[in-house]
Amino acid sequence: MTEKKELTNFSKEELEKEIESLGEKAFRVKQIWQWVYFRGVTDFMQMSNISLSLRQKLSEKYTITRPKVITEQVSIDKTHKWLLEFQDGERVEMVYIPEKDRGAVCISTQVGCAMGCKFCHTGSQKFTRNLTVSEIVGQFMVARDAYNEWPSPTNEIRYLSNIVVMGMGEPLNNLDNVVKALNIITDGDGIAISRRRVTMSTSGIAPRIVDAMEKTGVRLAVSLHAPNNSIRSQIMPINDKFKIEEVMKACSEYQRKDHSRYITFEYLMLKGLNDTEQHAKELISLLKSYKIRATFNLIPFNPWPGCNFEPSDKKTVEAFSKILDNAGFAAPIRVARGQDILAACGQLKSKHKKPN
Ligand code: SF4
Repeated sequence: MTEKKELTNFSKEELEKEIESLGEKAFRVKQIWQWVYFRGVTDFMQMSNISLSLRQKLSEKYTITRPKVITEQVSIDKTHKWLLEFQDGERVEMVYIPEKDRGAVCISTQVGCAMGCKFCHTGSQKFTRNLTVSEIVGQFMVARDAYNEWPSPTNEIRYLSNIVVMGMGEPLNNLDNVVKALNIITDGDGIAISRRRVTMSTSGIAPRIVDAMEKTGVRLAVSLHAPNNSIRSQIMPINDKFKIEEVMKACSEYQRKDHSRYITFEYLMLKGLNDTEQHAKELISLLKSYKIRATFNLIPFNPWPGCNFEPSDKKTVEAFSKILDNAGFAAPIRVARGQDILAACGQLKSKHKKPN
């Protein structure tokens, strides 16, 4: 017997071809799509407006799989973390960060990460493989299952309202699958999350930034974390390959093409390393010299076991924020969430790898 194909790996166009190859009309795709991505069903037999013979054909050839939930933890601030396992036993973590009447799901794009950012607990786990389209989309569908947000809400009230592609991995190094996955997630016939509610964060793979943003149409965040090359190279090895200037040029090119888009610069506040008044001023002149319109996201560092950095003092972070703000760059200080369950930014890690 031939192995069943994973249906959620297909883009809509690819699914049309698959369905046509079964001798069916392409319009069936919309019906199947709505069952899978609007209603969230995983059993073809539940697709009641589709003929029994097609349901049987689909069941023979395809499968709709979710990543398996291995553990779940809910923090005292209601941040929810899942350890998910894929078919080959590889695992990633996913986090839901709830606000009052909405919330963001932080999804991963790779198992492990090759970027090796020194401050990142996630990055200390070595790169294993890219996630498939189905594995990326499947993460969000697990969250939807957990919060019973099927069928997709058709009004703006959604608990799972936003997606941040900021979990494990560098999305621009798995771009083809990420583009396909985001196209599925944002498709209006299914999950229908608006592209403006999706933010993709890169460590600064400069040559791919413009292309990635054109293909996905989502919001751009860049992990900057330093005002100059000498500090950035100390904490982000990728900076040896793509210097700050290249990243800035790519950002400015992106904004030249789409004037309405602000960029978010993620900036981790590390005591004594990147957090002085001088550093804030350097950042301002850097951005001004490339005419970049941006906001900063100042992130208090969440120490993890074995790390070599300390968080900046609260007063230092506030002063830093004020300097940027006075120069026209909004720089809110991110409130750390889920610290008690290591679910905060940069703390994700699939540490419970399946035992052999
Ligand atoms: S910060 Fe992002 S890019 Fe850097 S090591 Fe961590 S997961 Fe990878």
